[in-house]
Amino acid sequence: MTSREPFVIAGGGVGGLTVALALAQIGRRVLLFERAPAFREVGAGLQLSPNACRVLRRLGVLDSLMDLAVAPRFVRLRRNSDGADLARVPLDDAESRWGAPYIGVHRADLLAALVDRARANDLIEITNDSTLTGFIQDERGVAVTFRFDGEFRRASGAALIGADGVRSMVRSRMFPGEADKPVYTGHTAWRTILPAAKLPDAFRAPVANLWFGDRAHLVHYPLRAGSIVNVVALVEDAWRGETENDPDFWDTEGDRRFLLNRFKDWAGEARSLIGAGETWMRWPLFDRPSLDAWTRGRVALLGDAAHPMLPYLAQGAAQAIEDAAALSAAVAENQDDPAAALSFYSAARAFRARKIQEAARAQGEIYHLGGVKAFMRDVALRLSPSGMLRGRQDWIYSA
Ligand SMILES: Cc1cc2nc3c(=O)[nH]c(=O)nc-3n(C[C@H](O)[C@H](O)[C@H](O)COP(=O)(O)OP(=O)(O)OC[C@H]3O[C@@H](n4cnc5c(N)ncnc54)[C@H](O)[C@@H]3O)c2cc1C
Repeated sequence: MTSREPFVIAGGGVGGLTVALALAQIGRRVLLFERAPAFREVGAGLQLSPNACRVLRRLGVLDSLMDLAVAPRFVRLRRNSDGADLARVPLDDAESRWGAPYIGVHRADLLAALVDRARANDLIEITNDSTLTGFIQDERGVAVTFRFDGEFRRASGAALIGADGVRSMVRSRMFPGEADKPVYTGHTAWRTILPAAKLPDAFRAPVANLWFGDRAHLVHYPLRAGSIVNVVALVEDAWRGETENDPDFWDTEGDRRFLLNRFKDWAGEARSLIGAGETWMRWPLFDRPSLDAWTRGRVALLGDAAHPMLPYLAQGAAQAIEDAAALSAAVAENQDDPAAALSFYSAARAFRARKIQEAARAQGEIYHLGGVKAFMRDVALRLSPSGMLRGRQDWIYSA
């Protein structure tokens, strides 16, 4: 086997598909295995910050997204009890300040744009309905097994990239043991999509709304050129994860009465949004410890598999996209030595990803403050000039 064998990728989420395109762009062949039988219309909205859009632009994906995207003019921070404005973080000069736009897209639209681009590339072979079940490596390459059509099959390549999400099988094999198991954070995201035509005009405005409450917060913004509104309610709860072994466990419908009750003391505008959602999907949030290195020889992790990211900075997909760019840059510099390339990739990315992971965890605590601490947060926000709040994003969006 030569080192110009294909890269094998486990997982066709945002991270796996982006790294497939990034590797193909530098001339590498890719075999991508995705567990799902088809790329379904899963999930809901994603905010893509400039650090992600810059990479998507280089890969030729951004343009095809722009017709469906909505670029929010600002993030509006609001108090849960009365809907009062606490602060605004301007985003309308994202292109000139950070070198790329800040957009909201439907996850399905992003996946479709990535899949279309990947399927049009002869260097990329995507196999759906294929679950990676194991791998071995030696100094010449990797061999993987996957389950397809009820049978176990084999494939081989120069290296394996585990882009298989927060409950990554690749990671569990690389770092066995209880200490690295995914753990429920005590936070669950409830999400729904509402037709904008049924809502007051204000909900269609190109604004990302973020409401703070006690142990909960609410996010909503328009998608698909303002035709639909993405709503996510994040709550701390006592869910115990009876279904965590089910691969689709997060895609289950929740009992909306729980949510109606949980938000009953919020301002009328917030309650009207919660009430308008007839179907709410529950997405329990899992975390894993931060890792110092994401590689073992010719096997590396990418995206949530490497650094599960709580959604409080809207950076999980963005960081997976940054990983993809860094990995292909490292491979381009070390075409004949995949193990060295992966090790350079991990060294280039681990510190920043960990910093953002920790910042996202901390941000969640700030969003969910109650009592006096919430009052102090709100006063501080009101006194902060909007330019200063925007400046705080520079280290994330400029990269
Ligand atoms: C409520 C919520 C809101 C969010 N909002 C934002 C946001 O606004 N902006 C942002 O940047 N991020 C956001 N995120 C985070 C973002 O969704 C994730 O970080 C991102 O999807 C991670 O991508 P990934 O490709 O690493 O993993 P995943 O999206 O989890 O993809 C992993 C893929 O691997 C497949 N797979 C798993 N196991 C195997 C196997 N053994 N063999 C083959 N395939 C396998 C899965 O089917 C899946 O397709 C949000 C997350 C949540 C929960």
